[in-house]
Amino acid sequence: MAQKEQTPITRDSLAGDGPNHEGQEQDNVRYDARRIETKWFERWRQDSSSYGAESNSTKPKYYVLEMLPYPSGELHMGHVRNYSIGDALARYMWMNGCNVLHPMGWDSFGLPAENAAIANNTPPREWTLRNIAAMKAQMKRLGFAYDWSREVTTCLPEYYRWNQWFFLKLFEKGLAYRKKSRVNWCPKCATVLANEQVVNGCCWRHEETLVEQRELEQWFLRITNYAEELLHDLDRLPRWPEKVRTMQRNWIGRSEGTLVDFKFDGATDTATSKITVFTTRVDTIFGATSVQLAPQHPLVTRLTKNNDLLRADVDRLIAEQRKAKEVGDIGEIEKHGVNTGRYAVNPYNGEKVPIWVANYILMDYGAGAIMSVPAHDERDYEFAKKYKLEIRLVILPRASDPEETVVEPRLPFTTLQGTLVNSGRFSGMDCEAAIKAMSEYAEKKGFGKATVTYRLKDWGISRQRYWGTPIPMLYCEKDGIVAVPEKDLPVILPENVDIALTGGSPLSRVPEFVNATCPKCGGRARRETDTMDTFVDSSWYFYRYTDARNDQAPFDREKVGYWFGDRGIDQYIGGVEHAILHLIYSRFWTKFMRDMGLIKNDEPAERLFTQGMIIKNGAKMSKSLGNVVSPDEMVDRYGADSTRMYTLFATSPDRELDWKDEGVEGIERFLGRVYRFVSRNTHAEDPAWGQTVPENLDPPARAVRRKLHQTIKRVSDDFQGRWHFNTSIAAIMELVNDLYAVEGRVIVADSPAKVVPIPLLAEIQRNLVLLLAPFAPYLAHELWEMLGEQGGLHHEPWPNYDPTLAKEEEIEIPVQINSKLRTRIVVPVDASSEVIRERALADEKIQAALDRKQIVNVIVVPGKLVNIVVR
Ligand SMILES: [Zn+2]
Ligand SMILES: [Zn+2]
Repeated sequence: MAQKEQTPITRDSLAGDGPNHEGQEQDNVRYDARRIETKWFERWRQDSSSYGAESNSTKPKYYVLEMLPYPSGELHMGHVRNYSIGDALARYMWMNGCNVLHPMGWDSFGLPAENAAIANNTPPREWTLRNIAAMKAQMKRLGFAYDWSREVTTCLPEYYRWNQWFFLKLFEKGLAYRKKSRVNWCPKCATVLANEQVVNGCCWRHEETLVEQRELEQWFLRITNYAEELLHDLDRLPRWPEKVRTMQRNWIGRSEGTLVDFKFDGATDTATSKITVFTTRVDTIFGATSVQLAPQHPLVTRLTKNNDLLRADVDRLIAEQRKAKEVGDIGEIEKHGVNTGRYAVNPYNGEKVPIWVANYILMDYGAGAIMSVPAHDERDYEFAKKYKLEIRLVILPRASDPEETVVEPRLPFTTLQGTLVNSGRFSGMDCEAAIKAMSEYAEKKGFGKATVTYRLKDWGISRQRYWGTPIPMLYCEKDGIVAVPEKDLPVILPENVDIALTGGSPLSRVPEFVNATCPKCGGRARRETDTMDTFVDSSWYFYRYTDARNDQAPFDREKVGYWFGDRGIDQYIGGVEHAILHLIYSRFWTKFMRDMGLIKNDEPAERLFTQGMIIKNGAKMSKSLGNVVSPDEMVDRYGADSTRMYTLFATSPDRELDWKDEGVEGIERFLGRVYRFVSRNTHAEDPAWGQTVPENLDPPARAVRRKLHQTIKRVSDDFQGRWHFNTSIAAIMELVNDLYAVEGRVIVADSPAKVVPIPLLAEIQRNLVLLLAPFAPYLAHELWEMLGEQGGLHHEPWPNYDPTLAKEEEIEIPVQINSKLRTRIVVPVDASSEVIRERALADEKIQAALDRKQIVNVIVVPGKLVNIVVR
């Protein structure tokens, strides 16, 4: 089926009830969403266990999870969309007999709480908890079926103590370490940012603030230990969106190459005796005509020590590089360099080449040094042309015929489809074979080796902020870095801290926090005052849901084992903006926990779905554009059911949704149609209600029953498949239209003219309500009660469709030419004259028989025959 852009709200689906029922419209059968939703809200409030996951269940488990929100104080429409998708799925799985885990929590540490605290003079904790209460009330009003007994709030000690516990484990394993490094610093946030939090050179939270580089001692997590596995296992996630996997692949950025040591000519000590370069094309090394260093390379520091002129040049290159980094793309930098006047020796041929320093070489890529091969590299070619460096050809196009003379290629000649020339013992080899042979040669001779590098860097988690998990480490004058013993956890984040002052960690100004006793020597120690990046909190929160109140461990292994199995969360749903940060960190954390023996799964989630964004008037909703639609206002005007259902109906969930209030109104009208139909057509007290549907139905009754079974099939298939809920809901609308079309022919129970018998009427409405339950839970519950059903709707079995009943009925019709039978065609029983005429004329036998004869007339008797009159 073709993808629908926007499901059109047709006149049919939204029409009033037609003239027959105008009178009844005036009666008390108005759909009053507020009344219905208030009633059920109260009932659900009194029974908070209805959506709880079962312990010791024999049902198949299903863990459906939406990404937990940051408690800003108010849900936005993007949240509503995300949770409506997850909620529909959770309800569908309950109805399919699963033991469903559907939890919710709060990613509640982070900077906005501190900013709000400063702006409103409210402590971050108070501000955060108040926001959580407000958003939780909104979620409940929207009718989302969460198991609130498992709520996780990351800013509370009962949760963050386990962040600290994990940190100690990482430290024990050597996966958490401290080092001095150049860091990204946002002057507005006054804190360090991870590389992932720098977007186009600016802060991810302050899109106009340039990120600065600073040198600081930081805590890092050794995510690079898992780089290869994180990359490799992307192939084991076929149920993740391809775009997410591609983004992660690029982020990890694996490249294979060779490390080669050039000897520094005139070295006076061992520290500077060699320059290690990284290259992906060692096959071109005989064409190297210079070595280029990053301005921060240690050898450069050495060379500029007693050379003021050179130092000035290098400082200029550093400034240019910083500026280019700040505006975003270092690849776009205008390339500058300076010749140091010193030489390096190419170990393959003993040749001396000049050493340059260049602004486009980065210290954190490869080894901060490259060999420059102008004939075979775009960048090197550009640089060599500019500074008039030698260009030496060492690769020629591979000749397809040995007799053929090879023409010199246009430079730079960069493909791997070539043969080496002027390359000593390696001349005549093909590029790829040469790369292997030359890497092996380097290793044998002890001046290099084949290697793999990654763009992924270790995860810097230190933040000089207050509102985060304290890092559980101490600094002792005697013992150096000492871990807080496990029994002393949690290290509580103190309250009443003045966070308005700038410069350094706020915690460093709290003596009761800073001053501690060393657990090793009993002497004085200073507590670490940095807090953890909040992405630590969200890296493992979904495991905590399985055992949220455990105060002995982050979770019980058996409970996690039950819900995660060996493949993880069954379905995870969230925004694509988390493709890199949250989802790579979560994958890393999962692999670390697996290696600790805490879990069996290698990946956090088997399936991932990323919903599209919501826009209005062609732009992302934002306060500055004044195009924000408030969920509360929509719920007040149209009800929670209509608001939720609209986010699923307007377009398929993976696409961008252009918000239209009229669309919500349209859904409200549709739900009104359903409500009124059921109000008028429930005959629960009739003895025939609930009895078996009779065999011999009249054609209109058969048709509407067929429509019902086709609709059940479409909605069920879609839940199992592509989640185009918009088409599912459109199918339910069509069913309701068909019901309206036959309504007048049913109703009077004892009328001899009745076409749709009471038992069928019961079957249809019962199933209609079941189909609506995942999308409009309030109304569905109300209708369920109106139909006289006992028991809770949310655990009622999902309807099955009967394939025989769903099948279009077909009949055979004879086709004549000049009243002589030529063939028979098969058409749907209710096919129109036009359809029958077309099918008859398109039939192969008829086409052959007609040849070039002139058709005078085509007589169609629907359901009986076709006669083609020819001359
Ligand atoms: Zn910032
Ligand atoms: Zn000590």
